[in-house]
Amino acid sequence: MADKTKPMQQKNNKNASNMIRSFLFILIVACFGAFLITGMNGTNVKKDEVPISDVIRRANDPNGNIAKIAVTGQNLDITLKDKDQPTETSRKDGSGTLYDQGLVNHCEGLEGDALSDCEAKYPVIEYKEDNNVWGIVLDVALTVLPIIAIVIFFSWMMRQATSANSQSMAFGKSKAKLYGPDKKKVTFKDVAGNEAAKQDLTEIVDFLKNPKKYEKLGAKIPRGVLLAGDPGTGKTLMARAVAGEANVPFFSISGSEFAEMFVGVGASRVRDLFSKAKKNAPSIIFIDEIDAVAHKRDARGGAGREDEQTLNQILVEMDGFDNDSGVIVMAATNRVDMLDKALLRPGRFDRHINVTLPERKDRLEILKVHFKGKPVEADVDLEALAKKTAGSSGADLANIANEAAITAAREGHKAVSNKDVVEAFEKVAIGPERKSKVMNEKERKITAYHEAGHAIVGHVLPDSDPVHKVTIIPRGSTGGVTWFLPPEDRSYKSIYDLKDILARAMGGRVAEKLVFGKDAITTGASSDLKNVATLAKSMIVEEGMGANLRNIVFPGEETGYYTITTGKPYSEKTSELIDAEIRKLSDEAANRAEIVLKANKAVLDKLAAELLARESLEEAELEPILKSAKLPAAAKLH
Ligand code: ADP
Ligand code: ZN
Repeated sequence: MADKTKPMQQKNNKNASNMIRSFLFILIVACFGAFLITGMNGTNVKKDEVPISDVIRRANDPNGNIAKIAVTGQNLDITLKDKDQPTETSRKDGSGTLYDQGLVNHCEGLEGDALSDCEAKYPVIEYKEDNNVWGIVLDVALTVLPIIAIVIFFSWMMRQATSANSQSMAFGKSKAKLYGPDKKKVTFKDVAGNEAAKQDLTEIVDFLKNPKKYEKLGAKIPRGVLLAGDPGTGKTLMARAVAGEANVPFFSISGSEFAEMFVGVGASRVRDLFSKAKKNAPSIIFIDEIDAVAHKRDARGGAGREDEQTLNQILVEMDGFDNDSGVIVMAATNRVDMLDKALLRPGRFDRHINVTLPERKDRLEILKVHFKGKPVEADVDLEALAKKTAGSSGADLANIANEAAITAAREGHKAVSNKDVVEAFEKVAIGPERKSKVMNEKERKITAYHEAGHAIVGHVLPDSDPVHKVTIIPRGSTGGVTWFLPPEDRSYKSIYDLKDILARAMGGRVAEKLVFGKDAITTGASSDLKNVATLAKSMIVEEGMGANLRNIVFPGEETGYYTITTGKPYSEKTSELIDAEIRKLSDEAANRAEIVLKANKAVLDKLAAELLARESLEEAELEPILKSAKLPAAAKLH
């Protein structure tokens, strides 16, 4: 049944969009006409627009400089005493006559000398017939047409809604402006790092610039380029840079916008987008978040019908490209694994470019790009910032640069100082300082011990990263923070690294317990415990690091394989084993943290006291305190 109604519905869409198109055409013609008429209406002298109140004041003043006022409908053309052409214009206020508004025709009814005497003092007011028919038609049209448009639009919408039998309410959210050529030109210079990706894309730029060169040699021009990478890694930026380098128009749309559309609208939008791009060829079409329409059709009961239509339309359009169409489709996703395989076949998105999170030297380059053009003090240390932002995306770094400038401006600095930069970094990483939140002495003391616990366990354990900073100033949702600094970007972490991370995360709660007693523990450790649970689970389920579940992993939900009893892709028994392994990891972590902190109680007291006194301690200030902490043999793993 559903299939049978399809062609009908598409026809309706076509009719509706034709109607809208012809309607738009009329509107454009009308606007253009209006433009011509107003343009032809006067001479080419540029007139100053003055307020009507000013005109009235001057016209009633015997020493005023107005010689003549010509009134046409609402418009006034004003000629001054020393001019022979109108040089000023004004408009009547509302619908009343000029007389109502206070403009008196002083010389009306006078004759002979009396008239010329009067005219020397007061302006002659001349009423011209408003025979500008087009102006009236236009006025009417401009009032009526939008109403008609709205009526047509709504009736069309209602029809769509009844045929789609749902989704009608989502329509309100759909974006009016879906795509268009890019105005601000971006080039590869604006994209820092990611050299490999840029290298791959230079070829595409060359295709767009010299299509003939490739055609002559019979080379197949690529049609689809898929940019894959985490959010904020610069995929959109890179696509725009390709357009900028090749100097071709850029048409973009986001997959998630399709999700908000009516049945059939997604597909017709795709048709429009492609025909627009083809008309402007060579050009680039960029589809952001393509996974939103192109997820695997079989996963979880299949994609929605609308998504499928949209996706099919994209495929149809791409398959229909001639070799010389000159349109290159770029798409971005952070979930390649989720994409429908049909999209990745030859002739479609067969070029894949991975866009990765930036390494340290790339982070420095990105920071330089974003600090360029901002006045900075000599003390600003971008290298240090690059060092401590491991795992940040280009967008995060851009955000830090922007926050630093905002902070500097707020503080009234002339240039961005390193302090502004550090503050921006911490704000972006954990949230703004909450100076207003006053902690009572008891809370401050608990926080100080809690953070000191993290710091000491992290410092002492051999495979943990060094402690960078400890603070008990509340920020975002946290009472305090202990920062660890990854020495450099590492692709792999060993089981020892991960176990040390678990132990230092437990350090906070364990310190509270040692100092205030096991029943005095607080809610301050909830996010630590959550982190422990997440990491421990992934060690068991994804990394095969369980003591008894070594080298075996338990695939996630996307495999689509569920057992009846557990609702998970593994049995009840395995489920229990996994739970036991996770439990074992967190117990071991708490135990190691306790061994370390018991053995270093004096250091713990010292550090907590120091934090209470100074609130924040940097690496150099921590060093003399942490120096005397020792690693007890019982906490060693290897
Ligand atoms: P994506 O499309 O991958 O989510 P965007 O291209 O939208 O990421 O990146 C967002 C912003 O982050 C960009 O506008 C830019 O300011 C910044 N950015 C990301 N990567 C880089 C980079 N490599 N060089 C410079 N700026 C970058
Ligand atoms: Zn903590």
